[in-house]
Amino acid sequence: MTSPRPSLIALVFLLTQSAPTETTAQVAVCRSRDSLQRSIEQNAENRLVELKTRIPSLEYELRYASSNNFVGKPMYPTRTRVTFLRKPAAEALQKVQQELNHQGLGLKIWDAYRPHSVTVAFWELIGDERYVANPAKGSGHNRGIAVDLTLIELPSGKEIDMGTGFDHFSDTAHHSFNQLPIQVSSNRNLLRTTMEKYGFKYYEEEWWHYSWPDPARFEVLDIPFEKLKRMR
Ligand SMILES: [Zn+2]
Repeated sequence: MTSPRPSLIALVFLLTQSAPTETTAQVAVCRSRDSLQRSIEQNAENRLVELKTRIPSLEYELRYASSNNFVGKPMYPTRTRVTFLRKPAAEALQKVQQELNHQGLGLKIWDAYRPHSVTVAFWELIGDERYVANPAKGSGHNRGIAVDLTLIELPSGKEIDMGTGFDHFSDTAHHSFNQLPIQVSSNRNLLRTTMEKYGFKYYEEEWWHYSWPDPARFEVLDIPFEKLKRMR
């Protein structure tokens, strides 16, 4: 009687060889309003706050609701007029805005909460973790704790010179880039120090991206903007 062992070993070998070299467990994604509601009932900090409702003086230019983004086409419904952050991040952003307003400045929001399915779509288009988040991990935007923003002058609403625009994927956008004009460095520093003062963390590669700490506390979400808007 022949032992099955050699063929079993061969099969295991083949399976091992055909498996991806780097396996990443897929993060759990919350797709239902009901389960988000239960999560909020357990912890009020999980609530998603519509930013302009909370901070009416904010400016929005939701780039992914238009073609004016690095993909060149809308990634959100073009009628999107709302955006969200979890409660502690929204409250902190309100304090940032108040402090800036005293200096004749304000915030313009380019993006905040981003449904996970949009991150999947970015990944299918770009597929490079230097530029887009890997959906297997989920991003701070998917968790409702990351925001992309810049400074504007008041009352004109004119953007302050930050050296690059939004989603400018080069080292010029890095915080450590040290060949900027003094005024541009000072503008970036003002945004960073004010955001950090109220608890946000900066992201080295993108001067416009800030996030709230402890991402694992907040689940990855794939709930459309319109559904979130109707939640109480
Ligand atoms: Zn971002």
